[in-house]
Amino acid sequence: MRAGFPDFRLGQVLATSFTGTLSERHGTAVERIPTPQRLVDWLAVYGLVVDACTPAQLDLARELREAIHAAATAAATGDALPASAVQVINDHSARGGAVAVLTPGGERRWRLGPASGVEDALGVIAADAISVISGERDGRLALCASPTCRAAFFDTSRSRTRRWCDMNTCGNREKKARFHANRRGNPGSAL
Ligand SMILES: [Zn+2]
Repeated sequence: MRAGFPDFRLGQVLATSFTGTLSERHGTAVERIPTPQRLVDWLAVYGLVVDACTPAQLDLARELREAIHAAATAAATGDALPASAVQVINDHSARGGAVAVLTPGGERRWRLGPASGVEDALGVIAADAISVISGERDGRLALCASPTCRAAFFDTSRSRTRRWCDMNTCGNREKKARFHANRRGNPGSAL
């Protein structure tokens, strides 16, 4: 982690973790990839290693991010997918030239082009979004119950009843808010 920048919120699912690089969209939004280098850092966490990123590539990344957010939100609420978001996701998927490689140890690695690393990485993220939004993967798209967050996340819990995008942030905040509300309602109660 680099000092002075907001931490990453890392989830298990690539596409929805990527949309989480802008958090608190309905509150005081936090941009977690404020510079090209922070996008490089974020991609590396997910095994998408690129040498460099230009400001224009960061713009492309954010365009893809917001398209995935819009499409995932629509999918979570059962609305029609916005055509413009679908177009952006498909364009990024088509542009990416990443190659999946199986290691001798049985793991998947991504091989990205030397000159097109960021575009290739975004293509991987777009393809991941397609697999999640299309319902191809085992899980359910849902929106975070926090009113200031409303992030789309992919619920893979067995009961499919997850409420928050991240238990450590939104879930805890909600619990604290309820705790204080209870205390106000019942001043004598010891919780
Ligand atoms: Zn949340």
